[in-house]
Amino acid sequence: MELHIDNVSKTYADGTRAVRDVSLTVSEGLVGLLGPNGAGKSTLMQLIATITKPTAGTLRWNGTDIVDHPATMRRVLGYLPQDVGMYPELTATEFLDYMAALKGLPGDAARTRIDTLLDVVGLQDARDRSLGGFSGGMRQRVGIACALLNDPDLLVADEPTVGLDPAERVRFRTLLTDLAEDRVVLLSTHIVSDVEATATRLAIMDDGRLATTSSPEALIDRVRDRVWEWVVPRGELSPVRDRYPVTKATRDPNGVRVHAVAAQQPDADASPAEATLEDAYLALLSDSPPSLS
Ligand code: ADP
Repeated sequence: MELHIDNVSKTYADGTRAVRDVSLTVSEGLVGLLGPNGAGKSTLMQLIATITKPTAGTLRWNGTDIVDHPATMRRVLGYLPQDVGMYPELTATEFLDYMAALKGLPGDAARTRIDTLLDVVGLQDARDRSLGGFSGGMRQRVGIACALLNDPDLLVADEPTVGLDPAERVRFRTLLTDLAEDRVVLLSTHIVSDVEATATRLAIMDDGRLATTSSPEALIDRVRDRVWEWVVPRGELSPVRDRYPVTKATRDPNGVRVHAVAAQQPDADASPAEATLEDAYLALLSDSPPSLS
């Protein structure tokens, strides 16, 4: 199982260069596509899902060009878009039945599959309730069940945790991690905590480009020994933010305790702090990265 993205660009009709010369190979586990809003994540996922075509470059699944042969991708793909259109009056089972029919799954096979999937996503108890009464997290789980109907080798989930509360977010993360055991899962997000404990690899996008691909551990290593904490007077936070990527600012009796990345000790009172993935991510995206290798 291998998705090969080679020098892919996508420029929209209005001239927006959403994806710029991205090369990436995705072959196992849970891959986190991380980047701020507007970075091009959703466009890249739509290219992979063969919903849109690249302006340049090639995308291949196990060697087959998926722009020329989209059916090759669609057969093995499960795609969870940002907005899954659902009919509020249908029950979870009715909706999945309907989607299975659209996907051409024969009736008996569909019923067995839906039953299994309702277990996988933890919605067996809610199967006969209408979708209109579902929480955001439950709706996303229906979306995942729908994306899994064809037992895909590649599951692509575009910002699936948007709008979920913290408990739902954790539950959803666990579900995706489980699903990545026997398929490739590509998950896009702008929230570091969605991928820090779960992703085997990270691809970080910024302004249409791939800023880096790395394991989370290797990314953290890039800022190890360059993370500091110190207290600044309340009015001085803004200039510190201008100078350093600040990942945390918390109240302190003497002002604000900042946690930031800096190549050298930024203040006489600054003490070394433990590096996090958030530090590494913010340093990578900052305009003046503290000399990351
Ligand atoms: P992300 O998913 O990282 O937020 P997107 O791929 O949605 O990024 O967007 C990347 C850029 O492309 C943004 O500037 C966005 O406004 C633009 N964009 C997205 N879709 C379209 C479209 N259909 N037409 C024109 N521009 C678009």
